[in-house]
Order: sequence, then structure tokens, then C-alpha cells
Amino acid sequence: MQTKLAFGLAALASWLVASAQAQVRHVTRVSEHYAVAQVEVAPGQVLPLEFDFPVTGVVVEAAQLAGATLTAAAPVALVPDPHQTGPVPRSQLLVTEPRRSFTLAVGEQPGPVRLHLLYAPPLPPEACWWERRPPLALRLENGCERPQTVPQSEWRAGLTPPRTAPTATAVRFIIVHHEAGSNNPVNFTQTVRNIYLLHTQTNGWADIGYNFVVAQNGTIFDGRDGQGRLDGDNVLGAHFCGKNANTMGICLLGNYMTAEPTSAALASLARVISWKLAKENLTNPFGRGIHLPGSAEQSTLNVISGHRDGCATDCPGDNVYRRLAEVRQSTLAVCNVLADDPVVFTRQLSLYPVPARQRLTVDFAGLAVRQLALVTANGQPLQAWAVPPGQASLDLDLAALPAGLYLLQVETPDGPRSKKLVIE
Ligand SMILES: [Zn+2]
Repeated sequence: MQTKLAFGLAALASWLVASAQAQVRHVTRVSEHYAVAQVEVAPGQVLPLEFDFPVTGVVVEAAQLAGATLTAAAPVALVPDPHQTGPVPRSQLLVTEPRRSFTLAVGEQPGPVRLHLLYAPPLPPEACWWERRPPLALRLENGCERPQTVPQSEWRAGLTPPRTAPTATAVRFIIVHHEAGSNNPVNFTQTVRNIYLLHTQTNGWADIGYNFVVAQNGTIFDGRDGQGRLDGDNVLGAHFCGKNANTMGICLLGNYMTAEPTSAALASLARVISWKLAKENLTNPFGRGIHLPGSAEQSTLNVISGHRDGCATDCPGDNVYRRLAEVRQSTLAVCNVLADDPVVFTRQLSLYPVPARQRLTVDFAGLAVRQLALVTANGQPLQAWAVPPGQASLDLDLAALPAGLYLLQVETPDGPRSKKLVIE
């Protein structure tokens, strides 16, 4: 037997059909893109849910999420969202193709469960040029220009634009997040569209919380909308436990407590950060500074920080957090600020090609070089090559080294000297 009950404003009410065992409350249609369903469940209950409207995103809110799963195409274990806003735990956002039926299996904790149901109509494939073009084409080969991104007006098409004017902030800190969602998303664009609905409709925020969102394939989506008044990267966001002033938030799609970030996502992250640091004249990606000086929330942050550095959260996940040092170094490869030492000396030393790829030729131009050594931008030694007496040049095999900025240290009779080296 199935039960049907209607509640709420007649025009906004809808039906929830569930099994006879379920204590069905009601479904409220808040808008054409958002509904809230409330059900009362018994411990260990498996609850088929059917809605008379399509759903593309679900967040489960319950006092106890442990042991609970939600099944759309396949069962997904529910874990708490590190970005929840209220006192009751909320699950990660589950994004799916449009569907009307789900199965909720709860753990041993009984009690009311609230489901936040989102509907982002999928964009026609022909509108999503960024899905057809190889992700690498979204990024520049080198330089300090703004990387190519997917504008809000394109990924947000068909959804309600922000209604509140943006607030400007002077960015001094970059805050890296993870979405804590699926590592096998159905569609990056749909994931971003559902996050937008979650932030604007469920949370009631003015706009998506982040300034940028980076997909696993490296695609960069613009976040907060400057609405023609501001650059989006200077719009005050909602991502850093209420301490958003002077920060810019970048969110990596996926859950990096469990998965490793892709090299494409890390490369795009470094490109956005590098461009932004150059734009704000923040010349040291390894730097630290005082955030909100003089306020009760004053703290010291790295210029490139993780969400957990300022808030009680495990975001951006252990596997992204421990690679932030690598991201800081990678930013130098795009718009680096280190200087050759000394400039006059390095004119006697030529490197080609620039930037280096698999191989590099070093021409000493008559210098009495005894040894070449490669170190990281932080000064960590990597590899050394002895130079036979009288030799004027050396070919180095760099194939094993990841892209980034390095220093080539040269031993001369006058002591060590260094020259910047970018490997692509
Ligand atoms: Zn976060």
C-alpha cells in the first residue's frame, strides 16, 4: 500500500509517495528548482521515494548520517558535507541525471529526515563548448593572463541569476576547497549547476559560494558573478566560515579525503592562483600574512591556504591539503617572481629551449663550469651533473621531472650561481 499526503501552500505543495512503513510528512515545492521533503524513518529502514517532478541533486539532512545510503542509479554512502551551514548534519550533494525515484536506506538512528531536492535542467550539449574542447585548450601555455574559464552566464543558463549586487573585497589570501562530492560525477556542468542551486536556494546565499570551481578534467568555472560591476575574483564569497573578507575561494570538484586530485585539476588550480597572485601583486606564493588584523578573528594564514587552516573542517581533504606546497611551487611556473642571481652572470649562460620540456641544452659561453645542479624553487636539491673540463655545453635529460619552476645552480670558480628554469 502506498500513502499520498499533500501539505503546505496548495500551489507549492506536491506529492510524496513512499512505502507504507514510512511516516510520510510532506514535500514543499519552494521553486521550480527546489523542493524540501520530510519523512520520518525507523532504524534500518529502506525507503523507496518517488516524486512527481524531476530531481538532479539531493542533499540528505539527518541527525545521524552514518550507515545511510541514497540510491539513484547506484547506492552512495552518505557522508557529512564539510560546508554545512545549520546544526543538523547534511550529506554531500548527490548529482544525477534527471530522475523521479530514489531509495533511501537509513542507519540505526531513527528520526526525521529532510531531503533537499534540486532540479537543474540539463543544458543542451551544443551549448557546452567547454565539454567538447579538450580541457588543455582551456588553459594558456604560459604567462600571467587570466586562464580561460566558463562564464557564469553560460553554465548558469536557465537558472535564476543572483538577485543581490556583489560586494567587493581586496583579495590577500587564496582559500582552496574541495566539494566533498562525487569522484565519478555524471557531468561537471550539472554538478556546478546543482551546487549553485544548493547555495542560492537551499542555503539562501546571494550566489554560488566560491569564486572559481575547478573540475577533475581541469575545466575552470567562474563562480561568484561580478554582474558587470566587479571582477568575479574580487567579489566577496561565502566559503570561509564567515571570515570571507580578503579571501578568494576556489573549489575542486570531488572528495579528496578519499581520492587523489587529478594533475589536470591541480594544474588549473595553480594557473588560477598564479594569475590572481600576479593581479593582486602578491609576489610570494610561499608567504604568510595576518588575516583580518585587529579583529576578534585575526589569524595568520598562508597566502595559499586550505579551508581547514581557518575553519573547523577537513576541507579541502587530506589529499589536496598535503599537496598545497606543490601547488604553491607550481604557481611560480606561470608567473614567477624569483630573480636570476646575479643577472649579469646569467647572460653568460644560455638555456634552450625555453621553457624546457624533455631535454635542455645548457651553453656556458666560455664559463669555467664544473657542475650543474637542479634544485626546486624552494632550494631542495634534485639532481646534479658533472661537467668535464673544457666542455662548452651539456644536454640534460629532464623527462622524469614534473612541470614547474626550478633553479639551475652552476658551480663556477667564483662560487655557485643560479638561473631560473621553467619545465613544461
Ligand atoms: Zn571548504
